Amino acid sequence: MNTVVVGKTLQQRINDMTPVEHAALTALHRLLDEIVDSPRTEKYDVNVFIEDIEHTMQGLWGFTRDRDFHIHWLRRAGCTCPKLDNHELMGAPYRIITENCPHHTKENPF
Ligand SMILES: [Zn+2]
Repeated sequence: MNTVVVGKTLQQRINDMTPVEHAALTALHRLLDEIVDSPRTEKYDVNVFIEDIEHTMQGLWGFTRDRDFHIHWLRRAGCTCPKLDNHELMGAPYRIITENCPHHTKENPF
């Protein structure tokens, strides 16, 4: 069951983390940094893997797991989808995908 904790600042959410949770969050950020530049495409579906990580990060932060708030899918090297427009859509169930993006399509708009 998801628990929505509203009204907490990010600092309060960090303070609520155990040392292991904080270390895991830091490691996931580092993993995302590595994946967006050098994904191991033979090992996993990169878009799905990034989404999995973002869901786990939301859980560690104490946020509801919600793909409408994901932003790291835009960081893939070579992604041509509009960054600013998609950031403004954060929280909405929409994503703007460019036709020439090598990673995202209307059929697979991660
Ligand atoms: Zn893209």
